[in-house]
Formats: sequence, structure tokens, C-alpha cells
Amino acid sequence: MLNQLTIAELTAKLAQRDVSSRDATQACLDQIQRVDGNIQAFINCDAAEALAQAEVADQAISRGATHTEQPLLGVPIAIKDVIAVKGQPLTCASKILGQFVSPYDATVIEKLKAAGAVVFGRLNMDEFAMGSSTENSAFGVTRNPWDTTHIPGGSSGGSAAAVVADECIASLGSDTGGSVRQPAALCGCVGLKPTYGRVSRYGLVAYASSLDQIGCFTKSVRDAATMLGVIAGHDARDSTSVPQPVPDYPTALHGDIKGLRLGLPREYMIGGLDAEVKAAVEQAMQHFASLGAEIVEISLPHTDYAIATYYIIATAEASANLARFDGIRYGARVDGADPIELYSKTRGAGFGAEVKRRIILGTYVLSSGYYDAYYLRAQKVRTLIRQDFLKAFERVDAILTPTSPTAAFKIGEKADDPLQMYLADIFTISCNLVGNCGLSVPCGFTTSPRLPVGLQLLGQPFGEETILRLAYAYEQITPWHKEKPPLVSAVADASCR
Ligand code: GLN
Repeated sequence: MLNQLTIAELTAKLAQRDVSSRDATQACLDQIQRVDGNIQAFINCDAAEALAQAEVADQAISRGATHTEQPLLGVPIAIKDVIAVKGQPLTCASKILGQFVSPYDATVIEKLKAAGAVVFGRLNMDEFAMGSSTENSAFGVTRNPWDTTHIPGGSSGGSAAAVVADECIASLGSDTGGSVRQPAALCGCVGLKPTYGRVSRYGLVAYASSLDQIGCFTKSVRDAATMLGVIAGHDARDSTSVPQPVPDYPTALHGDIKGLRLGLPREYMIGGLDAEVKAAVEQAMQHFASLGAEIVEISLPHTDYAIATYYIIATAEASANLARFDGIRYGARVDGADPIELYSKTRGAGFGAEVKRRIILGTYVLSSGYYDAYYLRAQKVRTLIRQDFLKAFERVDAILTPTSPTAAFKIGEKADDPLQMYLADIFTISCNLVGNCGLSVPCGFTTSPRLPVGLQLLGQPFGEETILRLAYAYEQITPWHKEKPPLVSAVADASCR
């Protein structure tokens, strides 16, 4: 089935004209019709628009366009509902955006389109990307394709589930504190968070601007390299994007990993680490050793403070970023007698509970009197965490950790306990505080229920080639990425029109 293919497999068939982009796109749309009633990865999906883009790709191929020039020509790629696509709804899984339709394309979307991709669908997420389970969406909970009573991870749960359920070939998400790597781990696909500044954030709705980065979900490491090659690069419209040349990531996959040094952080073998997750990561470590990598124990001494630091900085930035949703500029409005009443009624009705919690927390840590005690101190600890990593990277080429301390938990299990939910981010958030790159690659399954486990590789700033090469070498000698979840057909799906 065409919807099950990787980017590499599909583009090979398209190039030989064995199949058409229209067939591949239709196969994805059929799969959405078949399974998305159970998975609920899509908030919205414009089938006619997707097929129209596929026709354009097919015409280009018949006129001689190649995948060397356009690496994603004819490939259906779905988008997290936090990245602007011209003419498509943009909800951030929040009621407050109402019927808002984006008037412009994000830079990554321009790049995907220029590379020939069929850009389609709006994928479910935690509201404004705040969460680790996709339970905080105003449009319902996305379900883990391996067991629909479990969460898919978050906040980009829809992006991970859609790839794993073969509803698209690859997808985009955003990672502020693990939201690409963690759902990729919990659903069983590859998730890549590039270095801060590697990919333009223009057109990504801001959550915490100093941490946000757009990343991709793919069925293989090779596909992650292809996607990164397309979306990376400097953009004058994002002043934090870095003017560094974009390497040829797919070519970088093939280098030797012999002699590369992999750091294992002593502090990451914590109490809450699930025994099966730990065993899977230890086994992966042995695989790397068998490939000639050198395993080195390292220390990241400020790990204990990472969650507190992250949740102060992220909420502070969020409270400022979300001030723009006031009923005047965008989306939904609840009228009031005066502007203050209008703002408060609109925001009271439009934001969900977790978003409100974070705005209140973020406003508190920024308020005069508490600014020094919380926000400023968190910024200082952030520097210490960064120094831990930069020091470790003097000794190692990459750091190896579990992506998440447990496999996917049950829907509802942590929904009433925000602290438990925040603790699940322990292995992913430092990467955003530091600004380096990271990816998650499938490394096994738990036994009962059978759920995927992810291995995280953290690289130096702009060290994407190294972690991709390591992950690729690992993927070649392990079977995990080839496994497919046992999907059940749903009765009907309303998200695709
Ligand atoms: N779980 C983290 C949070 O809720 C990370 C979210 C993200 O990366 N967008 O903030």
C-alpha cells in the first residue's frame, strides 16, 4: 500500500513512474477515512486540495522534474496545527482561534512546497503545544495507534500518530520541550528536533520563543535526513535562524561510526525509569558498541533542576506570547461592555485549563517581586545546564538516553496531575534549554501492553549529521522501525472533507 511507504521508497516509485502522486495521496486519504475515527490524528483535512497538489506534482514529473531538484516531489506530508499554511485553518487545537484561516505560508511550508511536497491536513496537538499527551486539545484526544486506550505523547501527538498509522508519509511538528521526540518515541517512529536556529520559526505560532523549534516525523532515519535538508536554512524573517550552510544530510548518513564517542549520563538512570525502557536502552548501547562506538559515562550535574527551570522559562515566555489572543486581532470573540471585559470573557471562554494554568504561572514568575526569585534564577540555572552539556560535548560526539522514562501511559492516567505530566519530560527538555539537536529512534517494545520504546540521541549544536549517522547505523541492524501497529477500521471519519 502506497501510504505505508517511506519518502525514499515512494520517490523511487514516482521517479520510475510506477505510481502517481495522486495514487499515493489518495491512499493516505483512504487510510484517514479507514482509521482516523479511532486515532483522531487529524483536526481537519482538505482532500480536494491535497489531490489538486498531487496532480500538479504528477504533471511536473511527466514534464521531467526530478527528485534531485525537488526531493519531496509528489510526497504527501501532513502538518501540525501550529504551523501556518496559506488558506488552511490554523487552530493550535484551541477554541480561541475560532475559524481563523492563515493568510500566509510558514517558511518551512514554502520550502516543502518548493521541494514538491503535497502539503495537507491539520494535525491534532495539545492546545498551543502545551502538554505531553495530546489530551489538552479542544478537539478531542489523539490515540496511540499501538493501543487506542493509550496516549500518543505530546504535544505533537497527531503528527506522530498520523505517520505511524500510515495516514501520511511524513509530518511536521514543533518541539519546545520534547514535543517531537517524545511522541515519536511513544508511537514508534523517528522524530528529529534540529538545533535552535537551524530551521526558521517564521509561521510557527510561538509558545516559548527561546525554546521552540520545528521538527519532523518520519518512518526512517533516511527520511529524517531528507526532510531536514529541505526545511533547514537561514531565513531573514526569523532573526534567530542562523546563516550556516545546509549540509547534505542524506549523504552524511553513510559515514563510519567506528570510534565515535557516545556519552551515557549518570544522572539519567533515575528512579522513575521503567525497567523495560532501561533494558531496551542498554541493549541499544550494546548495539552501538558492536558497531565500534565507544561508550563513555558522563555527568550532567544540573539535571535535577531541568524541569523546574523549563517550566518557569516556558510559562514566562508563553504568558507574553499568548497575550496577542485577546479577541481583537484573531479568531473568536466574546463581547463585553468595555475592552477589559471583552478580553477577559474571550480569554476565559477561549483558552483551556492547561493554557490558563501556564499563563497564570508565567505571569506570576515575571511579576515584580518574584522576577528575580524565579525567572532570573531560572535563566541562570539554564546557563549551568548549558555548560553541563557543552562540557560533556568536549568528551563525546553524542549523548544517548531514553527519550521518555516510560512507554505511553493510559489516557486519563496523568490528566489530573500536571506535576506528574511535567516529570515525564525529564529527558527531553534540557535539549531545548541548551538549544542543541536531538532525535528519537525506535529501540524496542514493552511486553504488556506492547508499546514502542524510543532511544534519544542528543547532538552538539549543529551536530545533526552525527546523530543522523548514528541513528542510521543503529536502524540498519535493528528491526523496530519495520513494525506496524494493528489498526482497526473505524466507522466513519468526519475530519476529511
Ligand atoms: N511537554 C512540554 C510542555 O508541555 C513540551 C511541549 C512542547 O515541546 N511543545 O511544555
